[in-house]
Amino acid sequence: MTADQVIIQQPPTPAEVPATVRASLSPSRAADFKTCPLLYRFRSIDRLPERPSVEQARGTLVHAVLERLFDLPATDRTPQAAGDLVAPQWDRLVTEQAEFAGLFDDTDTAAVEGFLRSAAGLLEGYFAVEDPRRLEPAERESLISAVVDDELLIRGYLDRLDVAPDGALRVVDYKTGGAPREAFEARALFQLKFYALVLWRTRGVVPRVLRLLYLKDQEVCDYAPDAEELVRFERTVVALWRAIEQATATRDFRPRPSRLCDWCSHQAHCPSFGGTPPPFPEAAATPDPLRDARSGPTPPGADD
Ligand code: SF4
Repeated sequence: MTADQVIIQQPPTPAEVPATVRASLSPSRAADFKTCPLLYRFRSIDRLPERPSVEQARGTLVHAVLERLFDLPATDRTPQAAGDLVAPQWDRLVTEQAEFAGLFDDTDTAAVEGFLRSAAGLLEGYFAVEDPRRLEPAERESLISAVVDDELLIRGYLDRLDVAPDGALRVVDYKTGGAPREAFEARALFQLKFYALVLWRTRGVVPRVLRLLYLKDQEVCDYAPDAEELVRFERTVVALWRAIEQATATRDFRPRPSRLCDWCSHQAHCPSFGGTPPPFPEAAATPDPLRDARSGPTPPGADD
């Protein structure tokens, strides 16, 4: 740790953020800019609405069930118990998050039942790779943050953090998507390194394992970071933020077409697809460095 890095043990309120901080960045938004600067603009500056896809809704639902599953006593965390949580958690999500309410036609019960069955199928995939009766997570859906380079607050939600008796940390992220693996795996690893950097800066411990649990494919992908790598990663994150600042100052957010365009909600506004971006929202570009800190990063499960 260098002297110019500020440590924040708990997620700060805006009033608690050091005065030197000029901006905040979540792994989702950083990955957006890496993927496509114009996608970053549409999501973070224009704030264009995005209707969640069925896949995103399923990811959010599975994350919610796994979160509640660990509320149960260890011996009760069975496949049956997880299955029993699916419908009540979907009812809760539909009630609490308006964007999910219109996903299915109210009269199409077969579509909803099929959706719930597909979520249950992913949970079976979870039990194929892990036995939650043998685990006691230290943290779930935790918001963690740290300040790097004096000026940048980096923050995000962990799906799960396991702490071994010897203090070793394991960061676990559930992946439910069926998107092209090579494109999404880099984004997932970027997200996990982001969390590893925050944990290292706030707890002084480099996580021993960064674990991706692919529920659909029933695969476990482990990655062991080291301190030198996280130092380099921190430089990458800061450089990324500088590039975002530069793009904002010049209003220059270029499209970068890739296979991920198939999952982009904004093709109608994208020049690569014959569209025209809306006028640049000058008010939104006026620095409000903690806007993301106030609204929070992408919640768990919404980015699969
Ligand atoms: S369609 Fe592709 S190139 Fe266009 S904004 Fe979306 S991700 Fe970027």
